[in-house]
Amino acid sequence: MTMPNIQKMTVKDIKQQAKTISEKSAIPTFWITDWLLYVINKPALFLMTDPDYLLSATEQERFAAGITQMHNGIPLAYLTGTQEFWSLGFKVNEHTLIPRPDTEVLVEQVLHWIASQPNDSTPNNTAPKRLLDLGTGSGCIAISLAHELKHASWQVTAADLSLEALKVAQSNAVSNEVDVKFVHSSWYQALPIHENELFDVIVSNPPYIDENDEHLQRLQAEPISALSAPNYGLADIEHIVQQAGIYLRAGGLLAIEHGFDQGLAVRQLFLNNNFNAVKTVPDYGGNERVTLGCLATIDS
Ligand code: GLN
Repeated sequence: MTMPNIQKMTVKDIKQQAKTISEKSAIPTFWITDWLLYVINKPALFLMTDPDYLLSATEQERFAAGITQMHNGIPLAYLTGTQEFWSLGFKVNEHTLIPRPDTEVLVEQVLHWIASQPNDSTPNNTAPKRLLDLGTGSGCIAISLAHELKHASWQVTAADLSLEALKVAQSNAVSNEVDVKFVHSSWYQALPIHENELFDVIVSNPPYIDENDEHLQRLQAEPISALSAPNYGLADIEHIVQQAGIYLRAGGLLAIEHGFDQGLAVRQLFLNNNFNAVKTVPDYGGNERVTLGCLATIDS
C-alpha cells in the first residue's frame, strides 16, 4: 500500500502561505504564525532564526486542523486556550469573551483615578477599599486591577452570571497569584446592600453590541450573552448605571466600557443618575470607549 504523498512543510513555507491565506479570508496573518509557534512549541524569534525547520507529520496535521477551525470562525485564543491582557496570561474558553486590548484603557483609567485620590490614612480609616467588576468573564479586568493594587489595601470582588465563566476567572486568579472574591450574580442581584459594604469603585465591560449589528456574525464563536444587549446595546449599561448609586459610596467611581457610538447616550445616563465629573475616554483607535463618573456627594 502506498502512503499518500503529503508535502513536507517548513516554517518558511508556512510564513509564505500565511500571507495568502490571510488575504483570502478574515484570518489575521499573526494568528497563523502564532498558531504555528504554538503547535511547534517555539518562541517568536524562531520564525526568523529557523526558517528551514521541517514540521513533523503530527505537527503538520495539528497545524492544518487549526487553520480549518479558524476558517470555521474559531479565534486563535480558543485554539490555544490563552490570551494575554495587561501583560498577564489568561485562560479563555468558549464560555468567556476573549479580552480585547482596548479594555486595557478601562483598567488604566481606573488606576489613574485611584492614584489621584487623596491618601486618607486617618486612624479610623484603615478599612480596605473595595472594588467591584461586573460581568467579569475571564476575570481580566478584576485580576489586572488586583495585580496592580496588590500592595495597596484593596479588596476586589468580581461577579458573573455564568458559572462556567466564573470557573475560568477563578483559575486565572490563582495562576496570576491575586486574591479576588468571586460572586455568582446577575449584575448586582446577589451583592449585599449595606452601608459598610459600599464599593469605592465599580467597573464593567458589559455586553453592548446592538442585537442587529452585522459585526456579531464575525464574533459567533464567543458567548452572545457577553457581547450583545437589547435596546441598541444599551440595556445592560442602563441597568448598571441606574443601580450603581445603591452600591457605590458617595464620591466613588463608576467606569464602563461601551460602543464607539454610545458615548453621548452613556454620558447622559451617568448625568441622569446623579454622577458628576462625567467624561469619556477614547480607545487606542481614537473611538469613544470608556465613560467614567463619580457618584455625587450630598454637598456636590
Ligand atoms: N470583563 C470581561 C472582559 O472585559 C468580560 C466582558 C464580557 O463578557 N462582556 O473581557
